[in-house]
Amino acid sequence: MSQYIGRFAPSPSGRLHFGSLVAAVGAYAVAKIKDGKILLRIEDLDFFRCKKEYTSIILRELDEFGFKFDGEPYIQSEHTDVYYKAAKDLVAKEKAFYCNCTRSYLKNNSCHCRNKGLKEDSEDNLALRFIIPKVHQDYFEDEIYGQKRFPVLQESLTLIRRDKVISYNLACVVDDIRQGVTQVVRGSDLIDITTTQMCLYKALDADYISYLHLPLAMADDTYKLSKQNRSPAVLDQGSPSQMLIKALEFLNQDTDGLQPQMPPKKILDKALERFEIKRIPVGKKVVV
Ligand code: GLU
Repeated sequence: MSQYIGRFAPSPSGRLHFGSLVAAVGAYAVAKIKDGKILLRIEDLDFFRCKKEYTSIILRELDEFGFKFDGEPYIQSEHTDVYYKAAKDLVAKEKAFYCNCTRSYLKNNSCHCRNKGLKEDSEDNLALRFIIPKVHQDYFEDEIYGQKRFPVLQESLTLIRRDKVISYNLACVVDDIRQGVTQVVRGSDLIDITTTQMCLYKALDADYISYLHLPLAMADDTYKLSKQNRSPAVLDQGSPSQMLIKALEFLNQDTDGLQPQMPPKKILDKALERFEIKRIPVGKKVVV
């Protein structure tokens, strides 16, 4: 069997919050207990939201928690040519098209650019959209949730926006394929986009991979913790060791004997010895 390759892929739109730590601990632990590799990828393509200073801060914070990722961090903004090439190859295969609809136009009208045969022209600000095939696999097996079904209802998916921001979905799928990721472990907020991403796997002639969606850390019954909701930075809420123990408790793991006075690396090592995927809860959980 091929080696397990997992990844943790934060977006540097702010410091790490508790939800990011849960995703990091989950992805890291699952990779380690499967004798796999764990890669670190910085998803910083949205230049309106992401800042270089947050990349440095996130790298430092992950280090403070004691995580040791395999290889150098992979910074998406250093590889934009790869995503453009993948998108243009999809146009060449008639699986994607250029579009000149504005966002406000699309609010009330549907896009017919697919039939216009627009060509890339640096004068125009064209978006590039992927055609969702009418017939597609609308389910996947999740290691926590079991079989999940999410038919993709929309007709197209934006790969590159008119303002030239490369979409998360394109870059994430291209990189997971290029980096040989065998399982995606991430928060359940991304569970419903999975079948859409699988359409891209198929269009890029790649094999499907497996998924494990972690419980979503909620601020209350309505809001998930996220940088957009201005969730507090996790290292403002406690020491690295305290917060690691809290993340392990959130994942319902055995934290017996883990003390906040221990160095974070020791907590991680001890937690890995007894980490059990079957203990991870399903769904959402309010962080207390
Ligand atoms: N970059 C995304 C985030 O910070 C995670 C994407 C993924 O794991 O697929 O929410």
